[in-house]
This record gives sequence, C-alpha cells and structure tokens, in this order.
Amino acid sequence: MSKLIAISATADSSKISLSLNYARSLEGAGLVPMIVPPLTDPTRAGDILDSVGGLLLTGGEDVDPKRFGAPPHPKLGRINPQRDATELALLEAARDRRLPVLAICRGIQILNVAFGGTLYQDLPSEHPSAVGHNSPRDAASRTHDVTITAGSRLAAATGAAAMAVNSYHHQAVCHVGAGLRVTAVAADGVIEGVEVDDPAWWVLAVQWHPEDLATDVRSWDRRIFKAFADEIARAEKAATRPSSAPRPGLAS
Ligand code: MN
Repeated sequence: MSKLIAISATADSSKISLSLNYARSLEGAGLVPMIVPPLTDPTRAGDILDSVGGLLLTGGEDVDPKRFGAPPHPKLGRINPQRDATELALLEAARDRRLPVLAICRGIQILNVAFGGTLYQDLPSEHPSAVGHNSPRDAASRTHDVTITAGSRLAAATGAAAMAVNSYHHQAVCHVGAGLRVTAVAADGVIEGVEVDDPAWWVLAVQWHPEDLATDVRSWDRRIFKAFADEIARAEKAATRPSSAPRPGLAS
C-alpha cells in the first residue's frame, strides 16, 4: 500500500484531461496523485492498482446506457466507452484488493452501474424538480442541500447531518445497485451519495464536487479527502504486520 492514488481521467484522440482540483485536493490530504487515462487494454487495471493505495473516480462524460441495459435517451450527452471499460475494470480490481475508493460525480454513477444499478440519463426530462442540479458556472458555490444518512461513512467523514453542496450533473443514480446503500439525498429525492455495504471495503461516493470546495480549509468537503487519506493509512497499517523475527541485514 502507498499514498499514491490512481485518478481516472478522460482523453480525446490526442490529450488526457482532468480538473487539477482533484489532484490538489488529494495533495491537501497528504496523498500523491497518479493520473490514469482510459486504457486501450482495461485488463491492465490490476497492474495499476497493485502500485497504489487508493482509487479516485472522477467526473466527466455520461455513462453509456448500454452498460445498464437502457436505450440512449435523446438528451444523453457525450459518452466514452473506453473510459467506461477502464473504470469498471479499475473498480473490479479495487474490489478484489479491498482498496479504498472515493467516487465523485460520474464516479458515483459508474459505481452504481458496476453494482447493477441504473441511471437517470437526463434529470431535467426524467426527474424534473425545482432543485437546480446543473449549475456548472457555480462550481465553487453551494447551490442545494443534501441530507446525510446517520451512521454512514459520509456522516462519519463530514460530521454533518445535512450540508449545502455544489451541483453540476444532468445524470444521477436511479435504481440503486444491490450492495450499495444511500448516504445522501437532495430535497427532490435525487440520490447524492452512496457507499458499499461492506465493512471490509471502504467506498464513498458523492454526486457533487467536493474537489471544487476543498480549497477552503474550513470546508466539510475537505474532510471527505481527509477520511479517504485516514482509511488508506489505516489499511496500510493493517497490512504491515509487525514481525519479531530478526531481519537479515544487507551486509550479512
Ligand atoms: Mn445535485
């Protein structure tokens, strides 16, 4: 285990891209970012995860509805099947290793799909409400509230029962995958947080963008990255069993 964190990113035909705030938020929690582009061979996901202490799934394109057995909605945005395949392979490799996972925005969506759940492909047409979920110009503003489930990892991380969050997404979790539990909900019922229902595997997922709010040292969102770092440190400690046997020296 290590402080190195694999961060999923997107790419077009020539360039990798990712908001720098993800990397800065990890660094702010004492972690080291390592960017992983969509892979031409997703079966190498395990090789990557053998070298890191955690996985951060980030925001980006819409998930291909083929992945959850739905026809494409007319308002479906850009998809990236190579990224879908890469992130699903990374999640499977993380599950095999019980590696801590933090999943943000698209991350909560791909996590839900990995667990057999479905997505709203376009909230305004499929789940219209008075809550503004898509305010990309307000990335650093808290535009709607969420209620946090007591006893969840999210509640433990933030120390909050409710909080105001930023919001820029047009997709969201619809049917929750088996093995996940809901940890945050907006006033209109849109699911804003889930976690894996397994005490041995730390997976925390949110629909909003804590990385854009974590630059404020007083921020609740900073605590999400701190909780991720604490879990990685805990897992590292558990994996390093103290040995009473004398270690052979290099010179002997
Ligand atoms: Mn929202």
